[in-house]
Amino acid sequence: MSASVSIRDRYPLLIGGRHVETDRWDPVDDPFGGADLCAVAAATPDDVDAAVRVADAVGAEWARTPPTERAIAIERYGRVLDEHAGELAELMHREMGKPLPEANAEVARALEVVHYFAAEAERVLISQLPGTSITTGSLMRPAPVGVVASITPWNFPVALILWKLGPALAAGCSFVAKPASEAPLAAWRVCELAIEAGLPDGLVNCLTGDGPLVGEALATHPKVAKVAFTGSRRVAEQIATWAGPRLKALSLELGGHGPLVVLPDADLDQVAEVALIQGYANAGQACYSVNRVIAPPNLTGEIIERIDEGRQKLELGPMATDRGVQRHMRLIEDATLKGATVRGGEAVDSRRLEPALVSDAEVGVELIDEEPFTPIVAVMTNDDIEGAIAEANRPDYGLVGYVCGGDLRRTLQVAERIECGTVVVNGWRVVTAYAPYAGWKGSGVGVELGRPGLEAFIRWQHLRVLA
Ligand code: NAD
Repeated sequence: MSASVSIRDRYPLLIGGRHVETDRWDPVDDPFGGADLCAVAAATPDDVDAAVRVADAVGAEWARTPPTERAIAIERYGRVLDEHAGELAELMHREMGKPLPEANAEVARALEVVHYFAAEAERVLISQLPGTSITTGSLMRPAPVGVVASITPWNFPVALILWKLGPALAAGCSFVAKPASEAPLAAWRVCELAIEAGLPDGLVNCLTGDGPLVGEALATHPKVAKVAFTGSRRVAEQIATWAGPRLKALSLELGGHGPLVVLPDADLDQVAEVALIQGYANAGQACYSVNRVIAPPNLTGEIIERIDEGRQKLELGPMATDRGVQRHMRLIEDATLKGATVRGGEAVDSRRLEPALVSDAEVGVELIDEEPFTPIVAVMTNDDIEGAIAEANRPDYGLVGYVCGGDLRRTLQVAERIECGTVVVNGWRVVTAYAPYAGWKGSGVGVELGRPGLEAFIRWQHLRVLA
């Protein structure tokens, strides 16, 4: 641990541009094993109501603000975030253990998203479909959906709130954030900086506290128009049961079970690099992880050797939660009992794990079927490309897939058959601000980033002008 950011004793709620104290405070755990880091306010349903109502009132004004002015205000906010990038990364490092270089990279990429959507705010255009004269025809008017409730997890605490906040503000929406209880500080500061950057008071609010309590109050509130959620499928289903019958717009960005399909002419250095970087990034606590490397039989031995060599040189940050450590141990035990070969995977201390490399694991082993969300890469063998594609698409996930191959035409033909919202070809970088990120199948509904990620916060009005 090398960060020096000063952590406040208490983080109140942010409602209507003000700090709001509460009667109850929740401790924030230190992943490095020290005393609790600090306390955050525990919001009540009344606090949720207050935040949503102020967001609704201020949002009506923001929706009427000309897009060019919105763009200027969001860009100003982006620059304030830039000035505090190091602080945000350090907060994240302290609260959830992400190593500083990874935390800095997350913040840098997340801030690109804010600048991208500041520019997109000016491109929210009315379009006219001409009729028989200049005064007749159809106007397609983009209107903001309204108040957005954002519920985000702890594994990418800055990126995942900004993927929602940037486009929501650009579309003309107001925002109530509920960061993860495990790591609320960096996301809270993102919201406080919106106030410091001069965005209208109440446009961006932040409620910390108990997930189910605050989540239900948000997802059932009559003035919340959209719930933008990233997290586990279990919680997504719960949120859908609250928001669905109330006919709210929903986006649910969930977990993945990333396949890396290796074609016979793939560059094995590249395969090892993709598996090592994306298999063990964020100590495996990433939705876009490489979980299964699916390779032809004659390449499997070499691939295992190369990943194993790189794996042994890695030193991972601590797991963000004790839950994650326990889950990892359970998955390794299950695989071992079912006959798999496991390299590494031991506990280094109470929160740190060695990266694990698993081979000879078949369908029916839990880590092959369910998102591990811990640092485990499995190498599987498939005799032919059809079998590899079938294995890639087998689990009920479809977030990010990877394909490595020599012949680009053939590699792209395979890539487009991988049933994932994102397929990365011959490399490991997944996300850009300007391209959509979406979970297919059990990995979610809706889309974030890119132009579709902006339109996800827009409802269209058709003005049919007949005379
Ligand atoms: P989680 O579902 O436990 O928590 C997510 C958020 O929901 C937190 O803010 C939490 O406080 C809140 N919450 C918890 N219980 C709730 C309830 N009953 N009702 C309402 N809200 C509740 O998820 P997590 O463990 O923090 O995150 C891990 C999951 O997120 C993994 O599956 C991971 O793959 C997924 N993820 C997906 C993406 C993506 O973009 N698709 C990105 C990152 C993480």
